[in-house]
Amino acid sequence: MDINKDAIKNCILDKLNYHFGVQAIDATPDQYYRACVMIINEILITRQRKFMTDIRKTEAKTVSYLCMEFLLGRSLKSSLYNLGLLDPFDAAINELGYTLEEIFDMEPDAGLGNGGLGRLAACFMESAATLGYSMTGYSILYEYGIFKQQLLNGWQIELPDPWLPGGEVWLNPRPDEACTVKFGGHVKEEWNDYCLQIDYKDFTPVLAIPYDIIISGYQKGRVSLLRLWKATSSEFDLQLFHQGDYLKADEKRTQAEMISKILYPPDHHHEGKRLRLKQQYFLVSASIQDIVRKHLVQYKTLKNFSEKNAIHINETHPALAIPELMRIFLDDYCYDWDEAWNIITNTFSFTNHTIMREALEVWPEELLANLLPRIYHIIKEIQKRYQEALCNKYHFTDEQLKALAIIHNGQIHMANMCLHACHTINGVSKIHSSILQKNVFRNYSALHPEKFYNITNGFNYRRWLCQANPKMCQFISECIGDGFHTDPMQLQRMVMLQDDLAVLNKIAEIKRENKIRLADYIYSATKIKVDINSIFDVQVKRLHEYKRQLLNVMHILYLYDHYLQHSSEELPPRTFLFAAKAAPSYSMAKRIIHLICCLADEINSNPSVNDKLKIIYLEDYRVTLAELLMPAAEISEQISLAGTEASGTGNMKLMINGAITVGTLDGANIEIKEAVGEDNILLFGLRNEEVQLLRKVGYFPSIYLSNPAVRNIIERLNSNIHGESFHDIASYLIGSSDGIADPYMVLADFDSYCHIQKEAARRYSEPILWNKMSLRNIASAGRFAADRAIKEYAEKIWHIKTV
Ligand SMILES: *Cc1c(COP(=O)(O)O)cnc(C)c1O
Repeated sequence: MDINKDAIKNCILDKLNYHFGVQAIDATPDQYYRACVMIINEILITRQRKFMTDIRKTEAKTVSYLCMEFLLGRSLKSSLYNLGLLDPFDAAINELGYTLEEIFDMEPDAGLGNGGLGRLAACFMESAATLGYSMTGYSILYEYGIFKQQLLNGWQIELPDPWLPGGEVWLNPRPDEACTVKFGGHVKEEWNDYCLQIDYKDFTPVLAIPYDIIISGYQKGRVSLLRLWKATSSEFDLQLFHQGDYLKADEKRTQAEMISKILYPPDHHHEGKRLRLKQQYFLVSASIQDIVRKHLVQYKTLKNFSEKNAIHINETHPALAIPELMRIFLDDYCYDWDEAWNIITNTFSFTNHTIMREALEVWPEELLANLLPRIYHIIKEIQKRYQEALCNKYHFTDEQLKALAIIHNGQIHMANMCLHACHTINGVSKIHSSILQKNVFRNYSALHPEKFYNITNGFNYRRWLCQANPKMCQFISECIGDGFHTDPMQLQRMVMLQDDLAVLNKIAEIKRENKIRLADYIYSATKIKVDINSIFDVQVKRLHEYKRQLLNVMHILYLYDHYLQHSSEELPPRTFLFAAKAAPSYSMAKRIIHLICCLADEINSNPSVNDKLKIIYLEDYRVTLAELLMPAAEISEQISLAGTEASGTGNMKLMINGAITVGTLDGANIEIKEAVGEDNILLFGLRNEEVQLLRKVGYFPSIYLSNPAVRNIIERLNSNIHGESFHDIASYLIGSSDGIADPYMVLADFDSYCHIQKEAARRYSEPILWNKMSLRNIASAGRFAADRAIKEYAEKIWHIKTV
């Protein structure tokens, strides 16, 4: 089909006519949006079928990426972009009386993830498709994604996010490939002539129905498949219904559908444990059944399973995939243990994404035994054989055994199961991988150092630069050609132009236009006017103590005080931009949001400073908001305590849009420093080794009260900010008398942070210097492309080739 403007226009009119029963003139923007998606989806289905044929013909190995989260955001623009159809669609839609932007705005964000981990998974899907690897993502079709955040008097409130009404047009239901996941019940083991017969009775069946989203690669016509499972049940009790007990009659279905009802927030460890475990097993059981079924259709045997399948466990949430695949080999195909285990250990790999202690997942033995009796048996057997091997081979002490145990103290340790069963384990930045080896997983890495790798995270720069910042992308193409669209390292060529004033001015001009676009949004969302000439200083990410939004607040309080006393001082004006969601049960994070909002109210309404300082807190941080923020940012705040941020990807997205990082030597900041050079990044704060040392000798923050600036700020928190006291945060920062002090050492880095912020202001006052730094950041961001990360996974971990 020749896809030109007129053909597209006709297709749209057809869809409006036959699907919605309306004429062009009566159609709503939402109907136009749906019509466009239907057309794109048809193109994608064709490509998917062709790509599948190639995969089958070449017998290519496939990677299945299991993850509880895929934070997709919107898909229409990026699909059109990757298919090269933006221009003809734009022309067609214009003729029909709308702009493409208006149509894009009809699409809800698919918020099926919490933050960085879910966004990474989404970026990886696009890269794998672009490069031509065979990749299937597996997750859950949550009816409600991450909550919608509203700020009410400076407090976060959470609202449900029903994304399906606008998002479901992307879904291709495949009820023919549905499968059953079994919960509860009892297991009886019986030997027949040649294998152990498992009799599994009284279980509750849940139906898993797959819905596919097809993700387009850039050009070349290849795609990735994202298969999302919806939970339901076909059991309906007609007897109860006839008796008039309508609720009860449909109870089984309601119970089953609860599993795919809602994305769970992280940092949440009390309520809903059982449902969360159900979600995890539901995802892995359906996915593993699907992978095995597809394999058998093509190869008729499971002997070559690990040659044709790599299965990736993204964070420990899908770790039950390991015993689930064992279960299928043992119970359904009568494999003996060693043969099955051999296949397992050649199939699975595992990425760890955080060293936050509380994120190392454990499940109560009793809960697992009760909910998944057969899986529990298998985990016990894995544990038994593992312990025997450790004792016989390494003569481990009890202490060492305990550290590696999969089951210990009535708890099942998911990470330890992954370490034991996976052939490769990786961290997501150099420092994070090294901390995993030296600290978090040191006992295991001493046994098997060869299993450990680093693969630094990446991001989809076609989305975060080319689509989010089209003017910059266009300008870069004019400078160095458009080869960088598929070869990100070509961005480096921009460095040749770093002394060309016209180029530097153009970069500044594009930044200014993006700032105006953001300022317009800020005005429409908050009715606050921000100064386009002020520095746009941006900290956007999840709200967490370790990310230290509080350090940013301390510096703002410092500046505020400074301006109140020396109002004539010549520092460039600044706009501090925040956006972040807090986990609903995380009260400290919510308190910090409230502090930022109170401070914003006070400063923004104080005429003696508000021409110099403004604070904006934008509600509901999500992919679509990030796409508006990143291109307008000038300072990128990446200020976690060294040794706490695994990698970060927000830092990379901001860098490629020309923002200068103010950051600690943490996560991927360290590699950003290596890429741009020390002169083009503003580093401050304790190094990881210094943090560890300080921990050892003891962190006593009250010593920092000798600094008058710190004293002032603490006093201010204690007394009042916009009429409220933040006594609790003050005592958190300086440590209360019973010795509990801020574990993220905000005060220890405060002085160093203020110095580097002063340096940032100084450099901003020299536009040529600043714009040159900006250019060098853009030019050096190529190595953080997800394309690079995916190639490394493909070569070092999955051992897959492009189709
Ligand atoms: C990139 C991204 C993140 C991750 O940000 P970090 O600064 O790396 O923590 C979180 N949420 C959204 C919506 C993102 O786009």
